[in-house]
Amino acid sequence: MTEHAVVIAGGGPTGLMLAGELALAGIDVVIVERRASQDVDGSRAGGLHARTIEVLDQRGIAERFLSAGQVAQVQGFAGIPLDISDFPTRHNYGLALWQSRFEPILAGWVGELGVPILRGCEVVGCAQDDTGVDVELSGDTSLRAEYLVGCDGGRSLIRRAAGIDFPGLDPSTSWMIAEVEMDEAPELGMRREGGGIGPVNRLEGRGPFRVVLTERHVEHTGDPGMDELREALVAVYGTDYGLRSANWISRFTDMARQAASYRQGRVLLAGDAAHVHPPQGGQGLNTGVQDAVNLGWKLAQVVDKTSPGSLLDTYHAERHPVGARVLHNTMAAVALGSPDDRHQALRDTMTELLSMDEPRRRIAAMLSGLDIHYDLGEGHPLLGRRMPDLDVHTADGPTRVFALLHDARPVLLNLGEPGGFDISPWAHRVRLVDARHDGAWELPVLGEITAPPAVVIRPDGHVAWAGDLTDPELPHVLAAWFGAATPA
Ligand SMILES: Cc1cc2nc3c(=O)[nH]c(=O)nc-3n(C[C@H](O)[C@H](O)[C@H](O)COP(=O)(O)OP(=O)(O)OC[C@H]3O[C@@H](n4cnc5c(N)ncnc54)[C@H](O)[C@@H]3O)c2cc1C
Repeated sequence: MTEHAVVIAGGGPTGLMLAGELALAGIDVVIVERRASQDVDGSRAGGLHARTIEVLDQRGIAERFLSAGQVAQVQGFAGIPLDISDFPTRHNYGLALWQSRFEPILAGWVGELGVPILRGCEVVGCAQDDTGVDVELSGDTSLRAEYLVGCDGGRSLIRRAAGIDFPGLDPSTSWMIAEVEMDEAPELGMRREGGGIGPVNRLEGRGPFRVVLTERHVEHTGDPGMDELREALVAVYGTDYGLRSANWISRFTDMARQAASYRQGRVLLAGDAAHVHPPQGGQGLNTGVQDAVNLGWKLAQVVDKTSPGSLLDTYHAERHPVGARVLHNTMAAVALGSPDDRHQALRDTMTELLSMDEPRRRIAAMLSGLDIHYDLGEGHPLLGRRMPDLDVHTADGPTRVFALLHDARPVLLNLGEPGGFDISPWAHRVRLVDARHDGAWELPVLGEITAPPAVVIRPDGHVAWAGDLTDPELPHVLAAWFGAATPA
């Protein structure tokens, strides 16, 4: 039986990102992926939000995605546009980039890092014991791992095999979605009664078109076909616009469920395996990628015995509330989209509210992921929040904070006088960088904050501590997050 430190079930966006994070930390990881190639069937995510672009920037790979997509103000709540161009981030926009383009680019990076992907191979069962997990594969083979991560999507076999509950809401509405060719020019845009048509290539503006249609029934037994699609088009638009062919047709619902626990011993869940919700707001892929970035460095430290297994509990503690909030806001967006006069009145009211700066900033910061705040206790406003990508001057010349995170290692960034803290007990894990920053510190929603003299930045870009290097808490913080001090 082949052994690996970590086996990831599923090589979608979440599994790929996690594999990259583990590989950066030098962990022996393998992905088992059912699909024979990285091709994505049907429609999935349409783009990236600001925090996901930042996270990719933290690894030095954002440009690969930015150059393949279209930067735009894509943020919206229940169809109400939210401009984030005034947000204090280098990426004060979203990126229109279909998942079918996103995945191959991410897989390219993971390939460069040397992660093996067993394609056309399925995890069919798993069983954990005190020292590891047996992972049963299709084709009567198996793997042994210290940890297994289920990144295997909403119908996660790993979640079920681990006996993790998936409570939440059953679907109340079903939508058909398709990519089609039409002989006539269709009406573009959204329709209140449940229709929407847009060009697949948003720049060119012509066919093929992407069509979304509310269905009359929630329950379905199989995938929809051309007849059903035509019928649904006529029901909403009174015409099928000369529907000629469909590249694919599929459906989605407003089901909203979340794993009761993201960890069961040596089995963890991330991405859609941990949370499913309607696509309103376009947050699924983004949340999965960010789950992976939260989990990756922690799992790496547990595997290489830098940290105890309990560090993995912080993954659930931090990411479960983020997932719950996504479920919550998508539920609200679905309700606001109900095609009746009362909900229209509510939407008009929300539109008015969101035209004001403060509400717009709050909701847009939530949807973009820029306001994520892990509860690390009381303290400086940066504590638990994302570190802003400041321009800094170091002994090696000018750089920016995200560039210091490319290798996914923690950084103690000292912005005061050099010296004053002995990093040697952590020197092989935590990089001490003496730097200077001359501008203001600004956070989304909160605005300008007091500049701290020093910060501890975790590999996921979140601040674990902010204060003065003489703070007696600092050694404890380093030990809690990055392992006990070792003699120099
Ligand atoms: C219509 C629609 C629109 C969407 N729009 C957006 C959007 O605009 N923005 C956004 O962020 N998100 C959007 N999403 C959600 C997004 O597609 C998902 O959240 C995202 O794909 C989740 O990534 P994942 O890697 O967690 O899971 P998946 O993408 O589901 O990947 C799971 C992988 O696991 C593999 N797998 C499954 N079972 C096994 C097994 N037993 N063994 C081995 N491999 C297995 C699968 O083949 C797959 O590759 C949308 C989804 C839909 C359906």
